Amino acid sequence: MNCLICGSIFQSPPTWRKLFIYEIEPTACNRCLSKFEKTSPEIDFSDFQGTYYEGAVDSVTTFYTYNEAMKSYLHQYKFLQDVALAQVFADELRHVFEAKEGIVVPIPMHPEKLLQRTFAQVDELLNCAEIPFKQLLAKTETNEQGKKTKKERLEAKSLFKVIDKIEAQNYLLFDDIYTTGTTIHHAAKVLKEAGAKRIDAITLIKG
Ligand SMILES: [Zn+2]
Repeated sequence: MNCLICGSIFQSPPTWRKLFIYEIEPTACNRCLSKFEKTSPEIDFSDFQGTYYEGAVDSVTTFYTYNEAMKSYLHQYKFLQDVALAQVFADELRHVFEAKEGIVVPIPMHPEKLLQRTFAQVDELLNCAEIPFKQLLAKTETNEQGKKTKKERLEAKSLFKVIDKIEAQNYLLFDDIYTTGTTIHHAAKVLKEAGAKRIDAITLIKG
């Protein structure tokens, strides 16, 4: 088949594993995949500022660094709306979520942004990995986080509101990229305030 990233033809080697375990077929060639750089999976919380929102998330797990290969992947995926690219990490995501327990909650997009981008990129990563999820959060404001200073971001009102009933259970927040952590912390905080017992976050990339 053709690699979704570079377009070259590649063959996925047959393995015995495939006969016994359901696996999602690789959709990118090894040369492209090898350019993505793994990151240390657990985020270090020690440089947090102790703001109102921090402390709600119990753990954050990430997979990849934001290197050149990942930058161009994200650009192609998000801005050029290449939906098929969601398949590239499907198998990996599926394995990680299988090992965790909780209701999966993707970080939502603001409706205006959804119109611009045409599809919900975060949801689509989960769809491709066949991970069931619940849309329990909605964005409360349109302001781009990137345009604020760090102080403004930390003091801002919550970025999310809860739109459905939250049980005293574990929830798994999912986002494509973890940069300042603001998004994950705000989302975790509103879920905890609504009654969630534990919040683990998973993001594909550590920015
Ligand atoms: Zn390739």
